[in-house]
Amino acid sequence: MRSQRCCISCRLMADKSVFWRVVRTVPDRQIQLNSGMGRSAYLCKTEACLLAAEKKDRLSRALKTPVSKDFYQILKQQLLDGQADR
Ligand SMILES: [Zn+2]
Repeated sequence: MRSQRCCISCRLMADKSVFWRVVRTVPDRQIQLNSGMGRSAYLCKTEACLLAAEKKDRLSRALKTPVSKDFYQILKQQLLDGQADR
């Protein structure tokens, strides 16, 4: 069975492999990307969904913990790095 997940910005349903997985780890409540166990939020790897999420602070709400601007910057950098690979 495929694991379908939902983007916190655009609500697109797709296989979890296409999304960033943002994890709030337990018990130390760190915010991590693509690793760790804990509450997870999924986000399309697109600028549109990232900016929408940042504007409405959707990651903080989805994870029920404050997500810093720095973390959004890390995701933006991931997008830039991904483009460089192509
Ligand atoms: Zn999306």
